[in-house]
Amino acid sequence: MLIVGAGPTGLALALELRRQGIPFRILDRAPDAVHESRALAIQARTLEVLDRLGVADELVAAGSTATTLVMHAGGHDRSLTLFEPSVADTRYPFLLFLSQAETERILTARLAAEGVEVERGVELVELRQGADETTCTVRTGTGERDIRARYVVGCDGAHSAVRHALGIGFAGAAIPRAFLLADVEAEGVDRGRLHFFVGAAGPLVLFPLGSPASFRLIVGAPRGMTEQQVTLERLQAVVDRYPRARLRLHDPVWLTMFTVHSRTAQRFRVRRVFLAGDAAHIHSPAGGQGMNTGIQDAVNLGWKLALVCNRQAGEPLLDTYEEERMPVARAVVAATHRAFALATSRSPLLRVVRPRVAGLAVATLRRSAPLRRRAFRMIGELDVRYRRRALTREGQPRLKRGPRAGDRLPDAPLRDGTLQRALPATAFAIVLAGPPGSWPQDGIAHEWGSLLETVHVDEVRDPAAHHRLGLRRGDVAHWVIRPDGYIGYRAGGDDVTGALAYLRSALR
Ligand SMILES: Cc1cc2nc3c(=O)[nH]c(=O)nc-3n(C[C@H](O)[C@H](O)[C@H](O)COP(=O)(O)OP(=O)(O)OC[C@H]3O[C@@H](n4cnc5c(N)ncnc54)[C@H](O)[C@@H]3O)c2cc1C
Repeated sequence: MLIVGAGPTGLALALELRRQGIPFRILDRAPDAVHESRALAIQARTLEVLDRLGVADELVAAGSTATTLVMHAGGHDRSLTLFEPSVADTRYPFLLFLSQAETERILTARLAAEGVEVERGVELVELRQGADETTCTVRTGTGERDIRARYVVGCDGAHSAVRHALGIGFAGAAIPRAFLLADVEAEGVDRGRLHFFVGAAGPLVLFPLGSPASFRLIVGAPRGMTEQQVTLERLQAVVDRYPRARLRLHDPVWLTMFTVHSRTAQRFRVRRVFLAGDAAHIHSPAGGQGMNTGIQDAVNLGWKLALVCNRQAGEPLLDTYEEERMPVARAVVAATHRAFALATSRSPLLRVVRPRVAGLAVATLRRSAPLRRRAFRMIGELDVRYRRRALTREGQPRLKRGPRAGDRLPDAPLRDGTLQRALPATAFAIVLAGPPGSWPQDGIAHEWGSLLETVHVDEVRDPAAHHRLGLRRGDVAHWVIRPDGYIGYRAGGDDVTGALAYLRSALR
């Protein structure tokens, strides 16, 4: 197995494969890890999946969990904490601010601790698929050589050489204006907060960064400006067009210009070669979804590849990667494109109404906990689900309440730990719930060996988990949970025949 690219997507896939005991190589053309901040926000669902890989605690300790958004719009400054404790079914009810460089450093260090080194300065230049293996030509400082692999995953970013070699289209659109980005010191605003100024020309946003500078600043570039013209003085002149901001910028660590593309690859797989992360989809930074969606691609694909490589599942399991992840990517691309286009459009009408709408949105969110919860779940990717897909089945008797087949298994406290943390990191789980004595304590998993573990939820001893699964007093039910924490199958009662049939068909 070969992973091309050691950005967040490739590193997460490597950790997943390592956890599952699959031999692989991971290479990257860059001689060093990235130093630029790039993605800043890690979403709740990403922390949940990274917890399975043993790195969430370290990421949380390194980042900031209680960031406040200050919306400067329509003559008011309104603040909103990006921490929603009322979302109780996750251990991570916040947006974690941490620079991508730090995230990659922590993922790389964990991989190294598990004995895996990224091969750096190795660039994939060509790829040819044969009947049973793929030959990848790579270029290093000493020349070119071939690497053969049964499976190849292109985690090689927006300009993916793997995608080009496969001839896969990357259709989409671009926002017709450029933006300036700076990691910089700024006087005139409180540090540690996310400041959003809404001006007639669009937003000026300052994200709290901490290191290597206090802020990441993003603002629309003046028409006709080229990347060579981006200097601190010119950036200051653009910022001065936001009189309410009264900012003084200094000590830039990174100054650049970028355009926003919203594109999705037409396929995520050609036979034994896959695309994941930015290689498969790119979009605007609105909502901080880019890196997060890539990490979740990696986790979705990793366990499937591992089961197939270990001959515990047949090749059809791999078809479900594109079936599940492409609709998620398309939805993220469409939603972030719309949000970014609205926030940055030069339309005369939007220039007038935007400040009022932005202020009103924050005021409404401050007042309404249900709206805040809905927004948090959507942005935190907690509502990503795979309902009505090939790997999803509702069993009989059908459960009428609670999370459905295809949804993520929510978290809840158990007498000992939490529901999500009770799941095995590398196997399916069967969750058996009901009043005391409704299930045999030794479970039903033994015939499946290491592929299936049993988790008990007892109505009396684990009332919160019982309730969160949608059960009422006396209800008995069971769920099959996939290795990535999504519900594959659920049914009421204690007859697990349907659950075991589901497992056999998922792994055929
Ligand atoms: C300026 C900027 C700001 C951003 N801000 C945000 C943000 O605020 N929030 C957010 O969520 N996202 C943001 N993003 C996007 C985010 O950085 C990406 O979504 C994320 O890095 C994708 O991870 P990836 O691993 O899929 O790809 P990448 O991080 O691009 O990693 C790809 C890796 O593949 C390597 N590679 C490329 N070609 C080859 C080859 N031929 N052979 C070998 N190796 C190769 C590269 O060296 C690189 O290390 C930003 C991006 C940029 C550029």
